[in-house]
Amino acid sequence: MVWKLVTYTELYTPVPPYKTMFAIGVVEDEKGSRAIVRIDRKYFGRLRTGMVGDVVDEWTVFGTVKKFIPKEEVKIPRVAIITGGSGGIGSAIAIELARAGYSIALSDVVYSKDTERTLEAVRALGVDSAFVTIDVSSRESVEKGIGEVIGKFGRVDVLVNNAGITRDAYIQRMTPEDWDAVIKVNLAGAFYCSRAVVPHMIRSGGGVIVNISSIVGLVGNVGQTNYAASKSGLVGITYTLAKELAPYGIRVVAIAPGFVKTRMALAVPKSILRDYLKRSPIPRLIEPEEVAKLVRHVVENEALNGVVIPIDLGLAISSPKA
Ligand code: NAD
Repeated sequence: MVWKLVTYTELYTPVPPYKTMFAIGVVEDEKGSRAIVRIDRKYFGRLRTGMVGDVVDEWTVFGTVKKFIPKEEVKIPRVAIITGGSGGIGSAIAIELARAGYSIALSDVVYSKDTERTLEAVRALGVDSAFVTIDVSSRESVEKGIGEVIGKFGRVDVLVNNAGITRDAYIQRMTPEDWDAVIKVNLAGAFYCSRAVVPHMIRSGGGVIVNISSIVGLVGNVGQTNYAASKSGLVGITYTLAKELAPYGIRVVAIAPGFVKTRMALAVPKSILRDYLKRSPIPRLIEPEEVAKLVRHVVENEALNGVVIPIDLGLAISSPKA
């Protein structure tokens, strides 16, 4: 039997504890019989009257409900925003998510040659893309930038909180300015960006937030009190938002890389890098593309939520080699 969607309304109850979100619709079969149906939030943003589908009985904790399953796949390109996306890990993530078919909203605090190179690589993969200037440490800049992304693409499905800086020093020499700068970009930045995209993700039926933490946030590192605190903070944000946002279909996962071959890692003093390579069970730097593939996996695997995934060649479990 073919059912046609006659009318529907999407229901949001974004303030806990009333968290259920779905659409209620009226469908009609060829003979004109009508039924009231529930429609899962994963179809939000693609529903339209007149679309055809099946009606199935589904068991829920509230009893059996009639659900409408649209037959037509109305293709709406999904959109990923990557902060600090011009170079290094962010660039690799943008390219990998473009490869996965996402439209790419690339953002960074400045537009540089790296930005141009990344956008060219993204465009070559045939997906839609745009650059948005966002200084993640400024709430105003984040809100303006996310507004521009919504204006251009209409939705955000994936947010990768990747922007990050270091201001390394031993605690005696670490200035309050070093502390503030790192916390503002690495930690407050992720808070501002998450806060700005969540209402849009709720509206379109869900999403994924990937926080680029660091193995340093899990095990600490000499000279990085501010950086380690910011990256541990991202773990706390991840666990909390994973609980808070799951009812809206939003998953939140953190990735904790070891030393990745980028500008940031190559700025680390050679003696520390040598020590790292000595301790690492697999003594090499991680490629940005290896982190990017893990991000793609997190985005695509719907069972991953509220976890911190290390990608560190075994560094965290290693003790100094003899
Ligand atoms: P990178 O320096 O190459 O890239 C960082 C990006 O963040 C740059 O494009 C920079 O312009 C941008 N950025 C800096 N301040 C910003 C701000 N206020 N607003 C928006 N963007 C800003 O470094 P990377 O290694 O590619 O680092 C990417 C992320 O990965 C960072 O969060 C970093 O902490 C994390 N990470 C890196 C390593 C590593 O070894 N490279 C290891 C673990 C985690």
